Amino acid sequence: MLKGLIFDIKRFAVHDGNGIRTTVFFKGCPLKCLWCHNPEGISFKPQLAFYENKCINCGECAAVCSAGAQKITAAGHIYNREECVLCGGCERACLGNALTLYGKEMTVEELMPILLEDKPFYDNSGGGITLSGGECLCQPDFCAELLKNAKENGLNTAVDTCGFVPRAAIEKVMPFTDMFLYDIKAIDESVHIKCTGQSNRRILENLKYIDASGKKTEIRYPYVPGCNSGEAESIADFVGGFKNVTGVRVLPYHNYAGSKYLSLGMKNTLPGKLPDGEEIKSIEKLFKSCSLSKKVQ
Ligand code: SF4
Ligand code: SF4
Repeated sequence: MLKGLIFDIKRFAVHDGNGIRTTVFFKGCPLKCLWCHNPEGISFKPQLAFYENKCINCGECAAVCSAGAQKITAAGHIYNREECVLCGGCERACLGNALTLYGKEMTVEELMPILLEDKPFYDNSGGGITLSGGECLCQPDFCAELLKNAKENGLNTAVDTCGFVPRAAIEKVMPFTDMFLYDIKAIDESVHIKCTGQSNRRILENLKYIDASGKKTEIRYPYVPGCNSGEAESIADFVGGFKNVTGVRVLPYHNYAGSKYLSLGMKNTLPGKLPDGEEIKSIEKLFKSCSLSKKVQ
């Protein structure tokens, strides 16, 4: 039976497509964006996060961990990642909500009842479900199966993708996808490589393919000062000619994810400079002047 590796499910999402939606976050991403605000979605493997500020030193984790990865010492709580076999036992036992296992295998049969729970809200708001990540299209067979089931149950479907995936992955989900949310981080290839570790050629080609297929697509531009903040005009030029692009949504960079990097034992790559309100207004004005600001559908 097909299984997806999921790290979160967010109900009542209002920024992941039209109306009220439930968003499913898939683990694993082929890009390494410096500003990533979901670092728990980068690795293709499950990870245990330890939020030290929430730990009350109760020792429940050490009591249940047969691998010896959790220890309470005179110096405080020690979590040893090398010893951990990611069984999730300590997450269930933790009294302080200080431990979260990101990345759980789920079947379509397990996910569908959760996704159908809010159908009345989707129906009243023009919403539905969104597959996101990480990069959901790195698990294309599972996504196609999930989207197919969602369509059979009368749900509107959206796929939120970075576009850095094989064309075959897009072809698989296309018949069951009503709308794409598509990240464009930079048009200048060298800027893209510097910020994400990968070329953008495949991403731009895949967007042409999706547009030619006739599917509605919302472009998302994460605006990060000092990284890709000079790319707005090129993005407006590039997407301006597409027939089925509904608009560009500017996503202002924030650094709220700092504690997540720490809790996962990952190197924090978040840039230091935050955008100010005036900058964002002027970028949105630019897209508006090209009739590309986010349109409500
Ligand atoms: S996930 Fe399992 S092995 Fe890892 S620390 Fe927790 S209880 Fe121990
Ligand atoms: S169970 Fe949770 S709160 Fe208790 S010591 Fe372990 S991490 Fe801390």
